This record gives sequence, structure tokens and C-alpha cells, in this order.
Amino acid sequence: MGTLSFPQKGGPMTELEKIISRIDSFRDEMIDFQIQLCAIPAIAPASGGEGEVKKAEILLDFLKKNGLSSIDVIKTPDLDAPTDYRPNILALYKGKDSSKTIWVMTHMDIVPPGELAQWKGDPFKAWVEGGKIYGRGVEDNQQDMVASLYAVKAFHEEGLKPNYDIGIALVADEETGSEKGIDYVLSHSHAFRKQDLIVVPDAGNEEGTMIEVAEKSLLWLKFRTEGKQAHGSTPEKGINSFRAASFLVTELNKLYNTFPDKDPLFDPPISTFEPTKKESNVPNINTIPGEDVFYMDSRILPRYTIEEVIKSINTTTTKIEKEFKVKIFLEETQKAPAAPPTSADAPVVQALKNAIKDIYKKDGKATGIGGGTVAALFRRANFEAACWAKLDETAHQPNEYCIIDNMMGDAKVFAHIFLQE
Ligand SMILES: [Zn+2]
Repeated sequence: MGTLSFPQKGGPMTELEKIISRIDSFRDEMIDFQIQLCAIPAIAPASGGEGEVKKAEILLDFLKKNGLSSIDVIKTPDLDAPTDYRPNILALYKGKDSSKTIWVMTHMDIVPPGELAQWKGDPFKAWVEGGKIYGRGVEDNQQDMVASLYAVKAFHEEGLKPNYDIGIALVADEETGSEKGIDYVLSHSHAFRKQDLIVVPDAGNEEGTMIEVAEKSLLWLKFRTEGKQAHGSTPEKGINSFRAASFLVTELNKLYNTFPDKDPLFDPPISTFEPTKKESNVPNINTIPGEDVFYMDSRILPRYTIEEVIKSINTTTTKIEKEFKVKIFLEETQKAPAAPPTSADAPVVQALKNAIKDIYKKDGKATGIGGGTVAALFRRANFEAACWAKLDETAHQPNEYCIIDNMMGDAKVFAHIFLQE
């Protein structure tokens, strides 16, 4: 299995050993619960679904049956949902000391399955094959939702009190921006406190070693270059926007030299400036294109501001405009400055490292990534959240799967954290 299993030889079982062996006994039940959750597709109304209310009912039932108290449903108004709201659940499992809460937050919503022909089976009738559960949502985010719930259930069935309160947060709307999910919860609840540990198991790597603590700023730009259309045989009567844009795109590559700093916390350690999407211009070969549109995806280390990058880009576009007698229009398609990072020494990072070491026999590493995670919303609200899970990252793909051993191992990691001093 590769994860710690108990009982091992000799001696009375420790609390951790008892909890781990209890979690192991839930294996089949956890698989069944995954299949049950998968059958209730919680797709956001914005993506053509009904939202999370039906899934929330099953989860609320689980929480009530397994010793969780102060179960609170925070309802975000949403007129596009059949029930007019999106549910966000916060529940506590009481520990010996309530001065801090150890939270695990997962999201209930899933993305649509995409093209069904690409699936080997029905994405909403999860199936088990070769140690994996297949189905939409089984990894993102049910693997760790189920893991966190059964970690709590293990305490309940063992009659064990953790040192601190355990907080289970099951939120809506993660896949379409979190506005009706954790974003709303953070501004309508005082459940989270500065001293709390907040684990968000919605990003990770295959080894279970990546503890995500920081992110780069994100900048998506649209470059529209306007020249003058002409017949292919008389280019002198037009202005070739495609040529100008091609010089522009190579010139933009110099951003790598203008913003060259490296930060080993991040993977990759540099800021990136990549031309990506290209819109088609003229449909035929014998026309000089009058308009050209391409896009750039930039992930910028937090030490640089988005504004200084845009300023540098503006200098470049002005130069190209003069040189080629075109007009270049810059549009910010998306702009998200990096949230303040969680410190690599934060208690939540240390707790995760301890647990990863004991359960997976690996060294966890605090890492910054280029993509945004939902933990950034906590960080903007001044909470030190960390993203961690052992994942194959099949999220959003056809034939999404959850490795059953990852679900079991992650449950043990959460339980380990709950038992830490
Ligand atoms: Zn997710």
C-alpha cells in the first residue's frame, strides 16, 4: 500500500495507531460513499447544473450521524439555482481545547463531464478498476472530502477527542470563482480565526510532497494589432498587421530578460510570459491581413508588480506601432495580483510536514505555483492556509480518477494533524 498501516508488532496501540487502523476498516465504506456522491452531480448553475443542495443533504446527514456539532449552513443567494441559494457547510468536531480549530476545506461542486465519448463509462456512475475509482468529481474534490470526513468518523467511533476542535468546511462554487462559496463565507462568518490551521486539499502532486503556500500574479492580455487590409499582390497599399504582430510577439519574449529574478520557492522559479491563443485572421492566402489578435499568459513572481510588467509591455507596443505604422490595442482579459503568501514556516505547513513524514514517509516541501488556488482567498483575508493533497491531478479530465490508497493515506494525514499537539 505504501502508507503506514497498523497494528504493527508488539506493544499497546497508540492513539494514532488506533485511528489509522479504524480508517483502514472504512475502506469499502469510503469507496461506496464516493460512488454515492458521484451520482449527485453538483454542477454550478453557471455551467448548466443545479448546484450543490442535493449533495449537501447527504453530507449534512453524514455530519449529524458522526458526532459533528454546531453544523452551520451558510446560504449564498443565487437566483440561478433551483433552490435560490448555494449551500456552504461549516461543522465542528469538538476537541479538548477550543482555542483553535484545525480546518479541512473541500468543495462540493464539480465541473461538467465534457465530451461523454471520451469517457470509458458513465461519469456519474463511478466504477472501481485497478485500485482507482473513476467518475467526475472523484478526485476533485471528493477524494479529500471523503478522506476528511472519515478521519473525523474514526475519532468518533474510537471515542477519541482530538487536542483541538476539528473544523470541516464543505463549500460551493469553487469551480466558477468561489464568489458564492468560500468568498461569501469569509465575509459572512467569523468561524475562521487567525490561530486556526487551514488545510485546503485541492492541489498537490503524485508524491504527496507539495505543500502549496504561494502563488504568482496572473495576467492575461489580448493584443489586437490594426493595420490595413489589401490584396496580396499589392502589399504596399496595405499595412500587414500579422507581420507587425509577429515582431511584437518576439519582442515580448524579452520580458524574460527584463524580469529575470528567480525564487526557488516557486516551481518553475521564474516569471513566465507566454504567447498562447491566436485568433484567425483572413480566410484566404491572397489577402494582406488588416487585423491580428493574439494573447499572452503571464505568471509573475510576487516581487514584481503587474503594473511594472504592463508598463514595460506598453513601451514595446509603442515601439512596434512606430516601426510598422500599426495601432496596437491592449486588453487585460484577466488580472489577479498574487495573494500574500503563507509563510513556509507557518504552523499549518509544519503540521502537514510532520504528518506527511509519518504517514507517507516523504518530506513535504513548501512550494509556490503559477496557478491560482482557492487558498488565495484565505490568504487575502489574512489566514495562513496551505494547499496539500496526494493527487494524480486528473481533475477536469475525462476518466477522472481517485487512487483509493491516496484517499486512505490522506485521511490518515488529516487524522495525524488532528492528533498533533
Ligand atoms: Zn478542486
